[in-house]
Amino acid sequence: MRKCGAALLLAAAMVLAGCSSGKEASEPVTQAPTTSAADTTKAAGEAAQPEETKAPEQEAEDPSANIQADEEKEADVIIVGAGGAGLAAAIAAADEGAGSVIIVEKLGKTGGSLNFTSGSMSGAETIIQELDGIEDTKESYIEDIMSNGAGLGNKELIQIFADEDVDAIQWLWDHGLSEYTFSEQNGKKSVFAPEHQLYSIQRTYKPKAMDPANYKSAVHEILDKEIAGYDNIQIDYYTEVTELVGNDKGQVLTAVGYNSDSKKTVAYRAKKGIIMATGGYSGNPKMMGEYAEYGENYLVGGADSADGKGIRIMQEAGAAVDQEKLTYIPTFPMGLEYSEGKGAIGDVYMWKAGGIYVNQEGQRFINETLDEVVPRETALEEQTGAVQYNIFTDKIVEDLKAANAAFMWEYYYEPETGIGHKLIQSADTLEELAQIIGVPGDALVKTVEEYNAAVDAGGTDEFGRDLSGAVTAYSVAVNKIEGDRYYAVPIKALVVMTLGGVTVNNDMQVVDEAGNAIPGLYAAGEVVGGIWGRFVSGGTGVMGPVVFGRITGRNVVNMDLAEGQPVKAASFVLEESLFEKEESKAESYDMSGLKDGSYEATVDGQNGEMTVQVVVEDGKIKEVNVVSNHETENIAAPALEKIPAAMVEANSPDVDSVTGATLTSGRIREAVKQCLDQAK
Ligand SMILES: Cc1cc2nc3c(=O)[nH]c(=O)nc-3n(C[C@H](O)[C@H](O)[C@H](O)COP(=O)(O)OP(=O)(O)OC[C@H]3O[C@@H](n4cnc5c(N)ncnc54)[C@H](O)[C@@H]3O)c2cc1C
Repeated sequence: MRKCGAALLLAAAMVLAGCSSGKEASEPVTQAPTTSAADTTKAAGEAAQPEETKAPEQEAEDPSANIQADEEKEADVIIVGAGGAGLAAAIAAADEGAGSVIIVEKLGKTGGSLNFTSGSMSGAETIIQELDGIEDTKESYIEDIMSNGAGLGNKELIQIFADEDVDAIQWLWDHGLSEYTFSEQNGKKSVFAPEHQLYSIQRTYKPKAMDPANYKSAVHEILDKEIAGYDNIQIDYYTEVTELVGNDKGQVLTAVGYNSDSKKTVAYRAKKGIIMATGGYSGNPKMMGEYAEYGENYLVGGADSADGKGIRIMQEAGAAVDQEKLTYIPTFPMGLEYSEGKGAIGDVYMWKAGGIYVNQEGQRFINETLDEVVPRETALEEQTGAVQYNIFTDKIVEDLKAANAAFMWEYYYEPETGIGHKLIQSADTLEELAQIIGVPGDALVKTVEEYNAAVDAGGTDEFGRDLSGAVTAYSVAVNKIEGDRYYAVPIKALVVMTLGGVTVNNDMQVVDEAGNAIPGLYAAGEVVGGIWGRFVSGGTGVMGPVVFGRITGRNVVNMDLAEGQPVKAASFVLEESLFEKEESKAESYDMSGLKDGSYEATVDGQNGEMTVQVVVEDGKIKEVNVVSNHETENIAAPALEKIPAAMVEANSPDVDSVTGATLTSGRIREAVKQCLDQAK
């Protein structure tokens, strides 16, 4: 079902055009989102005008009435963030009877972190398990999640999650998931996911996106498709909410945003409530450095947009945050550093066929084939620089391929074609290899000699690694490290999600430091802290936001709007400096003396080279064209669209990066500068 375009922007136009206000005509409807001009906004200055007939004290008591904004918009429900949580919340709120929902999103697209993941999901007692003939219980799921989180999760919220998760997966199934192809194990869609601490039963699901050019995960695809069918859900893109403002009844019903396209501020007014669904802080290295003991060494695996600022915005409106839980920053022991400080899940997995990991001191420190992820994860975090080098040989690569377990190798590292093959170091001798990767040569040689001796001896080595040759999910062959050529791939601790955030009650209302619900303010998704405990359980990163988004969407519509204490900041508020971006020290490009002509330059890109053409006319940039690129399409699109035009307009390569696509922005900038260098 297509929306009426006019209704997206103006409710008035929507009514005139006769569009239906809801998904189904029979669904309860109050009204669609409304927009009004700046003159309806009460400016603080105006309120201060002396006027005999007014009661100035009364206006001064309602801070939300005195907001200065260029535009006003009103809806039953305002949702901040169009990730999995925000999208699911919007659908649930609309289905529950909200007449109008506005999602405010700072990027130019939906999905948030879902743009970066193929989106493994999990659930117990689901339709998928039923069709697979797998018996499972929610109790077992809850126990596993509690145990995976080192017993530090919130059992009541996990119980609520497990109950609703069944319905959420059923809803996804009924809305298209049943049509997807899944990665299967033994002919079943319900699988074990060895990249995480294993569940006691197969309850992870890995559907593959149908439109891989635009989507990485099925959940994102389904949510987007569904949202498009609702006329009463509007998404305001490129609008970052910077502040929540309470009213005279202590209710938080106003969010102030800034639209970077129109350069206007917008006051979003909610009649029922505001749902903050702004995600975690896996894109903020400063927060990792501040809250994880070894965090300054971690690779950032989350989106730039996952900056944690939403947590601070809520704290300024009184939200409680447990500082201990902010330290719950799980890592993956499999980060490939593709750009300084930034990483993707890219382990080479050579240890499955006999390779070893050594640290910066050239020593092994863990059983590489351990079937538990958490000990491997924490062991890596503690190593110097949180880096481990996977050491292997050609024979090990051959054996991994022979066992059909070389998917990551082929994707990332295969010479010539693998997108990360330039990151492999190799040498004829171990001493040379050690020198290249900067570990002590004698230590590496000794480590390998000891390991090779252990392989000869068979049995179990000093780290508990089984060298008997038994084939498991973590070991397909045993080999010594010996041959004509030696290889090393650096793998670092990688953060793709965080587990701290604001505190909520069981209704997903944000609570203040005294434990009282802040009227009107709800939160869902990764921005909520303390649900899962210290470590991640597979598939809850995707399903948690969807499940709690649904619950929150329903609650915001159904729960009475209470009155509370005047809104004031919490005693603990995250430091503002944690969100300041490092200023670029680069001097602006000297545009003098450019000769007219067409110039081309090629730079390294995400998955291959990027070629850019610049046309100079009358000494100015006339055109910037990205001729070819291998960027991740759905992430890079806003930069590919906006940066060339911005450069032409500014007649300079020094334009701001597009949020969420900073790496692509930087590559275009670099290529354009190289073109301009040629024009000198
Ligand atoms: C590489 C990677 C792989 C992953 N793999 C898996 C997996 O396989 N399985 C799994 O379960 N989990 C996985 N996760 C985690 C999971 O994807 C996330 O936890 C989940 O998608 C978070 O959803 P969310 O809606 O809470 O937040 P997000 O997806 O972060 O969405 C938040 C949205 O809010 C917007 N926003 C933020 N602040 C503002 C503001 N002030 N104003 C307006 N908009 C704002 C953001 O732009 C974003 O669109 C992975 C994560 C990553 C990064």
